[in-house]
Amino acid sequence: MDEDRQARLAKNESLFRELNENIRGLAGRLGGNSPFEFICECSTSGCFERLSLTLGEYEQVRQDGTHFLLAEGHEDIEIEQVVGRHGRYVVAAKDGVAGLVASDDDPRA
Ligand SMILES: [Zn+2]
Repeated sequence: MDEDRQARLAKNESLFRELNENIRGLAGRLGGNSPFEFICECSTSGCFERLSLTLGEYEQVRQDGTHFLLAEGHEDIEIEQVVGRHGRYVVAAKDGVAGLVASDDDPRA
């Protein structure tokens, strides 16, 4: 796959990561340990699969700027590899160009 496409796919995922960061901010203000609905951060445009995670689970995903939260089976093996399976959701890491774009766009960096 060419680098432009890799970068584009990573951008798409970064967009949803930002959205989830907003949800996280809101959830943090509401408090409590109940799960919140985050959005799948896969590279498929138009995917709005909801994933229920507690803030603690979400924070674990966000600890690495190249990690993304995906629904089970939504990973794209061309640009990422699954680093953790948690039943209803998986954590995927970017490599190559996609990883660099993901780190650059890390909202927490
Ligand atoms: Zn998805």
